[in-house]
Amino acid sequence: MRRSSSFDVLVIGSGAAGLAAAVSAVRAGARVGVATKTTLQACNSAKAQGGIQAAVGEDDSPEIHAEDVMRSSHETADPRLVEVLTSEAASAIHWLEEHGVEFTRSSSSGPQGSAKHAPGLNGGYRLARCGGATRNRLLQVGDRTGHAITRALRETYEASEGAELAHHALVAIRPESNGWVATFETKEGTSEVDAAAVVLAAGGRCFAEAEARGELSTNHPNATGEVTRVASEAGAETRDLDALQYHPNGGAWPATMQGYSIPETTRAYGAVLLNADGDEFTDSLGPRDAVSAAILAEVEKGKGLETPDGRPAVLLDTTRIAPEDAEVSLPYMLRRYRGAGIDPLAEPVYTYPVLHYQNGGLVIDEDAETTLEGVFACGEIAGGTHGRNRMMGNSLLECIVFGRRAGKAAAGRARA
Ligand SMILES: Cc1cc2nc3c(=O)[nH]c(=O)nc-3n(C[C@H](O)[C@H](O)[C@H](O)COP(=O)(O)OP(=O)(O)OC[C@H]3O[C@@H](n4cnc5c(N)ncnc54)[C@H](O)[C@@H]3O)c2cc1C
Repeated sequence: MRRSSSFDVLVIGSGAAGLAAAVSAVRAGARVGVATKTTLQACNSAKAQGGIQAAVGEDDSPEIHAEDVMRSSHETADPRLVEVLTSEAASAIHWLEEHGVEFTRSSSSGPQGSAKHAPGLNGGYRLARCGGATRNRLLQVGDRTGHAITRALRETYEASEGAELAHHALVAIRPESNGWVATFETKEGTSEVDAAAVVLAAGGRCFAEAEARGELSTNHPNATGEVTRVASEAGAETRDLDALQYHPNGGAWPATMQGYSIPETTRAYGAVLLNADGDEFTDSLGPRDAVSAAILAEVEKGKGLETPDGRPAVLLDTTRIAPEDAEVSLPYMLRRYRGAGIDPLAEPVYTYPVLHYQNGGLVIDEDAETTLEGVFACGEIAGGTHGRNRMMGNSLLECIVFGRRAGKAAAGRARA
């Protein structure tokens, strides 16, 4: 077996969580390698559209944000992790801005909050309200927030001394005297890499799960979940792995939009869900599980519609969105639908819940360390921060807050 390289910190995965961990570990002075299954660009994070939550509005606070998370999770989230998530949100936004992410500013008549000028923050953000939230708290970069975040962090990492191990698919980890050995399948065969500490940031499994169920998914094909299995086989504890989340608004028609996640910000900016009679049947800004359940129940009652290819659906009345809001906050969604022959500002779109997110994952502490010493986990692969039901906009936040913590703590472990 080839032993190809050795690092202080080995990061698995190049989504928002892995990149945040890698950039932080480099900044902490560690020799870092990022190993990823295909290319550095391939991940779910880059597909994230809606935005990232942070309590920066005048009427908001980390405590109110934490209450919203606990309530949306039906009190199943880990309060210690939630406190870290919400109290470090503003500094995570500041950190992203330092790396070149430019959040959309408030400029139109939409449902924006007025952002207070927290220390270090630029302020004036356009803030939307997401499902389950009691305040306008969602910062956006148009409707390509994940793309902007991953590009900024990737460029920072690529400009550093950190190494890139593309086309390295992790298949096993095992402890050795000074840390961990990771085994990869590569184009050249099997190889091993050793590191003082490992950060697992390989995302969730909803692409593979949807394939197994014969359903649609919003996920990137690399979201297959084998790294969670690798960690469990090495002895790491997991939680809530059965709790998978459906995005309430999967695209249902036309066929080219099936599996597309219609940003939840459509509803924040005024779109509502309608049944076949044209009646609103639920609070369109309820928590995700409640909105998805309401859609399924409406269809079950015979009040849904059918797409031209026979799939169940209800309508999302996107014509209620003010065109000026759509242009600033939903340009990508508009382009996708218009390219497929439908103008969402002129007619409602067909929608139905679609498999989207793995709520549970590896058990972590406040430093993102798993139950295995020297093995850290951040992003969708980790459990606890959202309990059994995540709020929109908290996943990107979790990637940055716990990615930074994981990178720093892993670098510290390497020095110890
Ligand atoms: C369409 C869509 C829209 C979304 N919108 C939002 C939003 O608006 N706001 C929000 O907060 N969240 C949103 N989410 C959720 C959020 O984007 C993801 O949960 C989050 O980005 C996951 O980041 P991650 O870094 O943990 O994993 P990912 O971004 O999925 O990255 C995982 C990485 O691990 C690599 N990998 C996988 N297996 C292996 C292996 N065996 N070996 C090596 N590498 C491996 C992958 O190739 C990839 O690079 C959205 C998700 C999707 C799919």
